[in-house]
Amino acid sequence: MNNSTPSHHKVRTDHLRRDAYLYVRQSSMRQVLENTESTKRQYQLRERALALGWISEQIRVIDCDQGRSGASDAGRDGFQQLVVEVSLGNAGIVMGLEVSRLARNNADWQRLLQLCAFSDTLILDQDGLYDPGAFNDRLLLGLKGTMSEAELHVLKSRLQQGIVNKARRGELKIPLPVGLAYDELDRVVLSADTQVRETLKKFFVTFRRLRAASAVVKEFRRENVQVPHYSRTGPKSSRIIWGDLTHSQALRILHNPRYAGAFAYGRTRTRRSPDGIVRYHKQTQENWTCLIQDRHEGYISWDEYQSNQRILTGNAQAFSNDRRPPPREGPALLQGIIVCGRCGKRMTVRYHHRRGQLIPEYICQRVKIEHGLSNNCQLVPGASIDQEIGKMLVGMMNSENIDIAVAVQRELQTRLDEADRLRYKHVERCRYEADLARRRYLKVDPDKRYVAEVLEAEWNGKLRTLDEAQSAYEAAKERDFTTLNQNHTAVLNALTSDFSTVWQNDSLPNRDRKRIVRLLIEDVTIIKDTKLTCHIRFKGGTCRTLNLPLPKSASEQRRTPPEVVKAIDELLYDHPEFRVADMLTERGMKSGTGQSFTLDHVMRIRIAYGLPNRWTRLRKRGKLLARELADKLGIDCRKIRRCRELGLFPAHEYRRGKYLYDDPGLGFVDRVPKLKMNACLKGSHITKEVQYAT
Ligand SMILES: [Zn+2]
Repeated sequence: MNNSTPSHHKVRTDHLRRDAYLYVRQSSMRQVLENTESTKRQYQLRERALALGWISEQIRVIDCDQGRSGASDAGRDGFQQLVVEVSLGNAGIVMGLEVSRLARNNADWQRLLQLCAFSDTLILDQDGLYDPGAFNDRLLLGLKGTMSEAELHVLKSRLQQGIVNKARRGELKIPLPVGLAYDELDRVVLSADTQVRETLKKFFVTFRRLRAASAVVKEFRRENVQVPHYSRTGPKSSRIIWGDLTHSQALRILHNPRYAGAFAYGRTRTRRSPDGIVRYHKQTQENWTCLIQDRHEGYISWDEYQSNQRILTGNAQAFSNDRRPPPREGPALLQGIIVCGRCGKRMTVRYHHRRGQLIPEYICQRVKIEHGLSNNCQLVPGASIDQEIGKMLVGMMNSENIDIAVAVQRELQTRLDEADRLRYKHVERCRYEADLARRRYLKVDPDKRYVAEVLEAEWNGKLRTLDEAQSAYEAAKERDFTTLNQNHTAVLNALTSDFSTVWQNDSLPNRDRKRIVRLLIEDVTIIKDTKLTCHIRFKGGTCRTLNLPLPKSASEQRRTPPEVVKAIDELLYDHPEFRVADMLTERGMKSGTGQSFTLDHVMRIRIAYGLPNRWTRLRKRGKLLARELADKLGIDCRKIRRCRELGLFPAHEYRRGKYLYDDPGLGFVDRVPKLKMNACLKGSHITKEVQYAT
């Protein structure tokens, strides 16, 4: 239709006054490089603009969007520049090859058309010249845009459908994770590299044991075992490189169904956000495009893969409401498996320090946090519950302890052996590479000095790597050896003889103690009212209920035990306070805070509990001061003291060196033999004979 209308009718002087814009675009870098024909045709439009009357200085070329997709105008500065120029009325004509593909997105295109119509801008493509202000032209251009978008859609969906169909049959060849490879017939097989294979096997075995990706990472780092991964960038892309295991890598391996021999497609979907950035969205297993189990050989079974997914889901913090976090370092035995008996939510752990020890508290505060209440649902001191659960487990475990000990020892040994073997493989690989580098160096023509130098440097590098690997291997081996010798053997011996010894052994890490608990106990539900009720649900499904007295509060725990108060009361009857402290210590009694008694303690307890002091007690029993006795007997005060020193008077010490006396009665002086009395009264030398004469 355009060919029948002479193009120059649409071009007016007003158009020619303004500039001509040539928009050049290829949607991918590959097109830019390979499809130069199209680029040439795009530049040919320039000739047509000249023919229509524009002069060459007026023709502006916008080609900064080469290599960008037209699916959205985001990130395409050239297209945006074009839109700006059009809306400012600077453009007399816009030129482009298949002009509707200026914007592959129909909305962008319609907007451009509208702007062109407003600003009276012409549009030129290889088919003809259009005036968007004219209804017929705009209709045609709009249709072109719609067709173009539809074409793109059909192309894309055909391509996609082809891929999906191939995937459904399990025939789609997609890149494999490290440890799996295609053979000559495009079948998926385990990697031929034994080091890669065995490292992955160890990875899965370790996860089976530790049940947490982060724990596996820690163990691999501790054991200095390196893991393979593909280098995705750089000149050596898709070559295997060895490095420390990272948490994200561990998760990738665990989530990848290919390791379980399954073919899966569509585990993620892409979505383009308004800012033009493509984002990946993980899909749940039910929403995968296809999943074919037992498609090829794998490292784990499909059942184990599924079980791993469940464990990971359980571990994930984000699954908040009913999560069961993996055992952590703190001493609270029931961390993660304790449930509130009032509201049914999982209880959390809070620690506080008391004399260098971490004291756990189990606390249910979810409802409080969610609803902004002031009170916790339940708050239970944890130490006594942990102790009772521990006691119960010890009681239960006693008969089977030997089997467990042997199994643990065997497993520990094989684990160490395996780690050692893998580390040795790494050394061997380094040695092989060093050897290869040496041979390459020896083969080179000595005249080609520049080549020889490079190869020599490479050889030296490989030798250094070998040396490092060798020493790391030896260090790790020695460390394993000592660990097994010093710590584990001792612990294992104890374990063989008695589970309870190990349980109470302080060197057993809390984490392991908790793992033991989790092997046996599913969860513990706690209700606190007048007493503490713990319903324990075991793994096998059996339940047991423990009724415990309410744990003491912190102040109650510090309170002096009543038997100590009673003992102090009794002892004060016959002994002064400074002796009482020693006597309590001799009896093995401790204060409420677990310390030995001092005079200060005894006095404070006596005052706190309102016990009468020694002085009051003695006075109540009619004991006299030396002065009073002297008056009564009619003798000198000093003589009384002298007599007490000689043992003539029964005296009662009420403070260090201070005494009260019994009243001996009036006839006392007569009852004492003359000789002794004289000796006493004269203050002469005291003899043994005199002392015992009474
Ligand atoms: Zn609660």
